[in-house]
Amino acid sequence: MLPVNDQHQPATRAITAGRAASGTSLAPALWASSVWESASFVDARRRATGTRAAEFYSRYANPTVRSFEEAVAALEGADDALAFASGMGAISSVVLALCSTGDHVVAQRQLYAGTLAFLQGPCARLGIEVTLVDGTVPGAFTEAVRPGRTMLVIAETPSNPRLDLVDLDELGALRGPITVVDSTLATPLGQRPLDHGVHLSLHSATKGIAGHNDATLGVVAGERDLVDALWAYAVLHGATPSPYDALNALRGIRTLAVRTTQQADSAFFLADSLSDHPEVAAVHHPGLSSHPQAHLAKRQMRHGGTLLAVELAGGLQAAERFLERVHLLRRATSLGGPETLVCHPATTTHASLTAEEAEAAGVTPGLLRISVGLEDPADLLADVLQALG
Ligand code: PLP
Repeated sequence: MLPVNDQHQPATRAITAGRAASGTSLAPALWASSVWESASFVDARRRATGTRAAEFYSRYANPTVRSFEEAVAALEGADDALAFASGMGAISSVVLALCSTGDHVVAQRQLYAGTLAFLQGPCARLGIEVTLVDGTVPGAFTEAVRPGRTMLVIAETPSNPRLDLVDLDELGALRGPITVVDSTLATPLGQRPLDHGVHLSLHSATKGIAGHNDATLGVVAGERDLVDALWAYAVLHGATPSPYDALNALRGIRTLAVRTTQQADSAFFLADSLSDHPEVAAVHHPGLSSHPQAHLAKRQMRHGGTLLAVELAGGLQAAERFLERVHLLRRATSLGGPETLVCHPATTTHASLTAEEAEAAGVTPGLLRISVGLEDPADLLADVLQALG
């Protein structure tokens, strides 16, 4: 078996990584077992007290999940990675592993609504103070950090749903707190936060990484000591991933490069084609030269991503009409899969936001988020145009 070679391009690493637990089988092996026999008294004690001991108990480690984690680490340029039962499992575990009552967290306003709800609900209840900043403003994170008190800085770039960006170099230059970037919308092939000095890169692998709408999974990658510290909490928290989902995600990784390349091309094509449409007030896509952070996208992303957000001139009524008229685009909330999905964030993914929070996150009544799939882009454009009327 070829070892993973750091000199290889990411698309090659997506093929070579995560094979250690599969022997000579080209397809990943499914280790469904939740428990393993120990060879002796001493061996049982060693496995029970070690960090991430193999072949002991699946909440501690599972070979199929480990293969998935190794593949993600190879793509992110990380020492190691740790998988969770969902993206939210990853986010909540990272916060609770690293923060205690009285600690301070800085996060951006433009967040997936579940992350925001976690920071404002359970974190507030536990006495973890959260300061929200506009992640697009240069220096906003730096200014909000309180030396000695801020334990964690949380960013999401591109952000869900309006695809605002955060400067990864600025985050990487912060000293003191641990920095974590939710890089879900970019995938590990679209950008690599760790290359910019960020401590942890996090994904809802439910999305582009697994890529087929058949796994619910989260993952975080970083330096080994930090990932081990997260594991020490996660093994007690118990948001443990299923080996079946890890298997599906590992299969997804094998085709991640071709999928995201085509999806990003199609997303740019749709964004560009809709820019001048009279029913469209604005198109948000980091690859467009009209995107306010286009220069930043060029600096830190390999492509403009596989999503676009479209603001309809006719507001809520126009959005409702569009969603009733689409045929090929499917009304669904997730993203990163082979089918093109459209959702109305204000009434679905971000329905829990107050009016002020929605405005700050760019979730307007006429905003639609489109996750571009693998259909022919000409067919997608035809469907969008007929739905616009
Ligand atoms: N982070 C982002 C950017 C997301 O879009 C989502 C879900 O949509 C999550 C995290 C949560 O992931 P999961 O649904 O796998 O818990």
